[in-house]
Amino acid sequence: MHIKTVEGLIAAGLADDAAGLEAVAAKYAVAITPDVVALIDPTDPDDPMARQFVPSTDELVTTPDERADPIGDLSHSPVEGIVHRYPDRVLLKAVHVCPVYCRFCFRREMVGPKGLGTLTPQQMDAAIGYIAAHDDIWEVILTGGDPLVLSPRRLAEMMARLARIEHVKIVRIHTRVPVVEPARVDAAMIDALKASGKTIYLAVHANHPREFTEAARAAMAQMADGGIALISQSVLLKGVNDDVETLAALMQRFVENRVQPYYLHHPDLAPGTSHFRVSIVDGQALVSALRGRISGLCQPIYVLDIPGGHGKVDIGAASIAEVDGHYVVRDWQGAAHVYPPRIEAAD
Ligand code: SF4
Repeated sequence: MHIKTVEGLIAAGLADDAAGLEAVAAKYAVAITPDVVALIDPTDPDDPMARQFVPSTDELVTTPDERADPIGDLSHSPVEGIVHRYPDRVLLKAVHVCPVYCRFCFRREMVGPKGLGTLTPQQMDAAIGYIAAHDDIWEVILTGGDPLVLSPRRLAEMMARLARIEHVKIVRIHTRVPVVEPARVDAAMIDALKASGKTIYLAVHANHPREFTEAARAAMAQMADGGIALISQSVLLKGVNDDVETLAALMQRFVENRVQPYYLHHPDLAPGTSHFRVSIVDGQALVSALRGRISGLCQPIYVLDIPGGHGKVDIGAASIAEVDGHYVVRDWQGAAHVYPPRIEAAD
């Protein structure tokens, strides 16, 4: 059952505080797909899957540093549906609905049935026109919402329009679909994604190794076999993946499934999400610990989106510093080494 109401959550045995959760649902959209319901252990009060998708009254707490548009989409939007933050790339947000609504979502004020909606044909014309008119746009990033809720026909139409823009070389799609609704991935979807003739990257959003079900792995394999390059995106979340074992397993699962680790996001200052936030110092320690623990193939970039729309910055702990004319580098266990090594004086 695709749960979209508090009543549905209670009927499925995933929640019991109807009054409290109705207050949450009035502010933020709720949806959990059957694939995700099957992953939740209702007997575990700390279940990392439930924590990601089942609403909590903790979301009613908004802290002073949180903001409705934490990464400044709206202040960098020249036309509806486009976010132009960096010279060489734009976001194209055709839809603002998702198969699931993640409780930590940084666009939670924009997505859902009461969110920014789907671009009208006129708005889509204007968005495509904007991309066509800006020669420096090398990459178009389809996000939202989840662009893979669109039918293959609509996806193919959008891709065909991008195909006609010579200066766009890369189309990147950010999605949770291969994990939360893997049955949507089929040959028609893959053909639609490839209809642009551009190089396609697809960023698979997953936060816990348990999300790699047999069906999810099959969906990723179908995409990889279909010629789509897969990269990862995850959010570092308290109570979900903020320990070395879980993060290491998550990154290994990505690599095992031909998904190249890419971004590990520090959680954004989205309203009602303070219960998910880890400190940056703790995040740096976790990411440093991964370095010695798992293969270089499995290392994500730990990034912060600077509030206000100033872009992403790599916030992994610096492993090198200049001290008295030498470099001091730190290994994965924190030990310091001088670089280049000092030359021992001969006796
Ligand atoms: S799938 Fe992405 S956009 Fe949709 S609710 Fe989750 S984090 Fe937000």
